[in-house]
Amino acid sequence: MENLICLGIEATAHTFGASIVLGSGKILSDVKETYTNEKGGIIPMEAANHHAKIGLKIIEQAIKDANIKEENIDIISFSASPGLAPSLIQGMKFAKDLALKLKVPLIGVNHLTAHLEIGKLLTKVKNPVFILATGANTQIIALEGNKYRIFGEALSIGIGNALDKFGRSINLGFPAGPKIEQLAKKGSYVELPYVVKGMDIEFSGIITKASDLYKQKKASKEDLCFSLQETLFSMLTEVSERALAHTEKSELLLIGGVAANKRLSEMLNIMCQEREAKFSVVPIQHSMDHGAMIAWTGILQYKTNTDYYKNLKLEDIDINPRQRIDEKEINWV
Ligand code: AMP
Ligand code: MG
Repeated sequence: MENLICLGIEATAHTFGASIVLGSGKILSDVKETYTNEKGGIIPMEAANHHAKIGLKIIEQAIKDANIKEENIDIISFSASPGLAPSLIQGMKFAKDLALKLKVPLIGVNHLTAHLEIGKLLTKVKNPVFILATGANTQIIALEGNKYRIFGEALSIGIGNALDKFGRSINLGFPAGPKIEQLAKKGSYVELPYVVKGMDIEFSGIITKASDLYKQKKASKEDLCFSLQETLFSMLTEVSERALAHTEKSELLLIGGVAANKRLSEMLNIMCQEREAKFSVVPIQHSMDHGAMIAWTGILQYKTNTDYYKNLKLEDIDINPRQRIDEKEINWV
């Protein structure tokens, strides 16, 4: 199984990715292309058309970069859930066409599970509390029994989208996260609401308040960027600390596009040092949506359920746009 060759295909939203990964965990190639538009939002049908157009080229490039031939592929995995249906369908189409052609097993992967598994592979962390901090998702997750359970989450919008929304209101363009991080370096604190409800966090009221303060000329961009980071990141740090205490785990792993933010890592690291826990961050190119995370999770699923996947018929495989991470059984750890 160490030499097993898996092609992973990612297509849940903006990004179409393809990657070749070995059963040992070695990543041989990882190619992706991301749909964009001028406003920075996503029009689901446009993203799907983008994927339809470039999908084959990306897959062929991944095979070429890995220095293998199509016939060497042993299994194929694809992002089956959750995500935008038009994007998921395109990914599945490429995956099924190729699985049919090569007569190899096809494995549907939960995209959120894949973010966690690639994080563990690359940081060598064993059984952490995960913070998934992407544009759309903000969840505190840990393995309990045979499920990745969500211990706390953002109730309305995810942390990246919250930062982007504020960025739009002060004309920073998209994505605003990196620009907010730079502006924050020149700011000082103005008071903003702090909204933690049990283990959950709520960003949207804070964004409205910060945007209003800017419109009313009561605070500068820099001060608002600084205060927003301090507030949102403190909220995330507070619930992460509580999840560490509750689960009695001693590792914290930060994943997602927002993991690029140095101040967020600094705050989480300080909290972990105080608890004698180990803090790790997933390298940014593997924190974003990409094919290697799908390939690696496909390998894990295949290794633990080989006969099931060998006998699975293509027509019984489908997408599930709304599947939550805690619906999926984890039997490989
Ligand atoms: P993802 O959804 O995981 O692809 O991550 C994209 C999100 O990460 C967007 O909302 C970005 O604004 C955000 N982001 C990227 N870099 C940074 C940064 N340095 N600080 C804060 N947010 C960031
Ligand atoms: Mg993602």
